[in-house]
Amino acid sequence: MAKYVYSFGKDGTDGDATMRNLLGGKGANLAEMAKIGLPVPSGFTITTEVCTYFYANGRQYPPELVAQVNEAMAAIEKTMGKKFGDTKDLPLLVSCRSGARDSMPGMMDTVLNIGLNDKTVEVLAKKSGDERFAWDCYRRFVQMYGDVVLDMKPKTKTDEDPFEELLHKMKEKVGVTEDADLKPEHLKELVKQFKAAVKKQTGHDFPEDPMEQVWGGIGAVFGSWMNDRAMVYRRMNGIPHDWGTAVNVQAMVFGNMGDTCATGVALTRNGATGEKGITGDYLINAQGEDVVAGIRMPKRIEDSLHKEMPKCWEQFKAVAMRLENHYKDIQDIEFTIENQNLWMLQTRNAKRTGFAHVRAAVDMVNEGLITPDMAIARIPANDLTQLLQPVFSGAGLKGKTPLAKGINAGPGAATGQIYYQPDEAEAAWQKDNNARIILVRKETTPEDLRGMKVAKGILTSSGGAASHAALVSRQMGKACVCGCDAISIDYKAETMTVKGKVYKKGDWISVDGFSGNVYEGEVPTSASEVLQVLFDKSLKPADAPIYQCFHQLMSWADRFRKLGVRANADNPKESEQAIALGAQGIGLTRTEHMFFDHIDDFRAMILSETVEAREKALEPLLKYQQADFEGIFRAMAGRPVTIRLLDPPLHEFVPHTEKDQADLATKLGIPKETVARRVNELHEFNPMLGHRGCRLGIVYPEITRMQATAICQAAVQVIKEGIDVHPEIMVPLAGNVAEFRHQEKVIRDAAAKVFGEAGVTSDYLVGTMIELPRACVTADKIAEAAEFFSFGTNDLTQTGLGISRDDYGTYINEYQELDIFPADPFQTLDQEGVGALMKIAVEKGKSTRSDVKLGICGEHGGDPASVKFCHKIGLDYVSCSPLRLPVARLAAAQAAIQEKKDKAAAKKATDSCGCKCCCCCCCKG
Ligand code: PEP
Ligand code: MG
Repeated sequence: MAKYVYSFGKDGTDGDATMRNLLGGKGANLAEMAKIGLPVPSGFTITTEVCTYFYANGRQYPPELVAQVNEAMAAIEKTMGKKFGDTKDLPLLVSCRSGARDSMPGMMDTVLNIGLNDKTVEVLAKKSGDERFAWDCYRRFVQMYGDVVLDMKPKTKTDEDPFEELLHKMKEKVGVTEDADLKPEHLKELVKQFKAAVKKQTGHDFPEDPMEQVWGGIGAVFGSWMNDRAMVYRRMNGIPHDWGTAVNVQAMVFGNMGDTCATGVALTRNGATGEKGITGDYLINAQGEDVVAGIRMPKRIEDSLHKEMPKCWEQFKAVAMRLENHYKDIQDIEFTIENQNLWMLQTRNAKRTGFAHVRAAVDMVNEGLITPDMAIARIPANDLTQLLQPVFSGAGLKGKTPLAKGINAGPGAATGQIYYQPDEAEAAWQKDNNARIILVRKETTPEDLRGMKVAKGILTSSGGAASHAALVSRQMGKACVCGCDAISIDYKAETMTVKGKVYKKGDWISVDGFSGNVYEGEVPTSASEVLQVLFDKSLKPADAPIYQCFHQLMSWADRFRKLGVRANADNPKESEQAIALGAQGIGLTRTEHMFFDHIDDFRAMILSETVEAREKALEPLLKYQQADFEGIFRAMAGRPVTIRLLDPPLHEFVPHTEKDQADLATKLGIPKETVARRVNELHEFNPMLGHRGCRLGIVYPEITRMQATAICQAAVQVIKEGIDVHPEIMVPLAGNVAEFRHQEKVIRDAAAKVFGEAGVTSDYLVGTMIELPRACVTADKIAEAAEFFSFGTNDLTQTGLGISRDDYGTYINEYQELDIFPADPFQTLDQEGVGALMKIAVEKGKSTRSDVKLGICGEHGGDPASVKFCHKIGLDYVSCSPLRLPVARLAAAQAAIQEKKDKAAAKKATDSCGCKCCCCCCCKG
């Protein structure tokens, strides 16, 4: 019989930490903690397979599940010495929580205090000796169950929660401000009112049967796997929808039974900076959700738990350190103290900022806890961009006093216009992707995800640094200031008031996620610490601790990676920056970008109508190009430089308004009708192929000749200066070997002429971009002539998928929401389609030229998943924009480490079965 339920607790545990695919992260870690003897309230986990079954079978469960749940409930009763639904003795109460394979903090639902009803609440009151506690639990349970299971949660941001409204009215009537000041009689009355609200809204009585309540909780948690915020979170984090969540049902322990009780969440190292030492939030006499929901301002564990509960603090510290050593990673721990007894409710590897990732990983290697390859493998490569993020410049802040100060929940500096509603922020961003938005909310709830995603910074008036959404915003690398209670927000009026001054939607503010400061207006930002060391040299490495960790990590990554890493750079400055960030060469110089400063000379060339006129117009361009190439060759100091011949969307370079056309005509001394006619002829239609790529050089070979001459003359000049030069001349958008051969001849003839006249020769390669499906499938023929391939995956995606890179923005959101595209194909390579074309090209190319040099220079060259794919298919290097280089270096190292691991695992499998075959297919059958 299939096993769907796994028990854990001191009397026996079925699972362990290795089973997270089946038990989810929470379930696997609860099992592991129980196994190593930590105090874990007993419970059971319903596997992720049940979630998959649930959705595949019209929200039904496998028939075996009921019996297995009943058996596991009996086991909890036995271990905890309490009965579920007991009307005579202290009853067992349980919680019901989600737990996916990768944690999705706050995205799914939870129900606490299951098992309370009109009878058991009386027993709980009597046996605990605390009537207020019992009725408070019941009040919370009915509210939570109503919201989560009976779907009475507000549907829009301005809707009121019916239960919160009743609670608010009761507090007003009684004349108190805090929930904790309500007396048992008020809570009893509230439960009555809550139940009436349930009946009114759902038409049914609130369920009194404890087992019915458990099944309600289980169904709600499985149901929450497909709620909107969970789906958005999964899309953002590349978590497949078919993984499903597990459900954990666990005996309740109480942090709200008086002042000897507490509840809290803690990290073993700082989640924002990575510094060593326990940090976290706790509340005396409270339930877990109070700490993370941001309703009561929690206390800092590191500041006061040792004073308030010294014995529990010592025990907690020991357990936390044991867990960090056991998992060898920063732990994010939930705990409850019930009458001075510590209970562990959860541990997981902590979500953290890129800063914390790097600092903690490097520290842990230096402490001997992990090895460099473990450090590299665990850091999400994209997070490194956070270290290259702007900070407020000292000069920008000069004379500015902070408007308010909150908790520094996510590092980084952000300046932008205030938005109060996440959906409005999202709409503003969709209208203008450059919009700078600061999302301002009362609490950081997970519902805000869509708005947080598009915001540069997040500011909240309440909620601690450990609130769910604060964790999420840190993970997204957003500057975030939480718990800023000096601001008072009015959603309806769309204003916030600080020290009597009102700030409307659209007003500018700035938030500093490093210090927690909030400033009025726009504050200029300046480069990150890493870039201050590497680019402007305004900081010495010795004074830059973040840089030191970054540097250490990068040097380890470079030791492991096999893929070369190059940059896409168009001028000497970018080339220098690229070297500072680890580039081993240039993988793409877009020569058309070099003409941005000489646009009229370039236009004269485009508009020429005869070969003679064009050759004349090319003369000044040759000089500019040669100077640019010399600058790049000098900056690159002997590293290879791939220069792509012109590939301009021509119509972008010509004037479009009548006035601009008339001005150009005057400058060039030609009739304005001629300019207008040529502009018209050059107009290119979506998907803007026209004279793109090698077609330009084939129709106008004098352009290719000029460029090849400029490259070779620059090489000669720089070689004469004693600098090594290795140009790689690249033909764009060839789909046919005949196109390539045509251009190759023009290039080689020009090179021979230059080198012959100069008496100096440079080595050089001639290769092509692979940007068309036809180029992939005829790559064997092309490789007979081309010495290297560079995959132009921007165009290969465009031509392979048949979607235009210029207008896909109008429907990509829908495509992603419908999960037609798992990711934006222009950011993350479509491995199944475009990737398959690349694989064909690699195999075919190597079949006729075994040493054909292989690279990628489309935007995907800086995307971690795509870099790993490039490693897998055997490319020699990836090329990306300079600021993506650290990401590419780390992702390349991760790919090499993973490959080694996979090979070792395959070898182990073959060795253990004793057969001689390499794939072990014979023993798998
Ligand atoms: C590409 O197509 O991937 C490429 C690098 O060229 P461009 O973006 O200039 O078309
Ligand atoms: Mg291209």
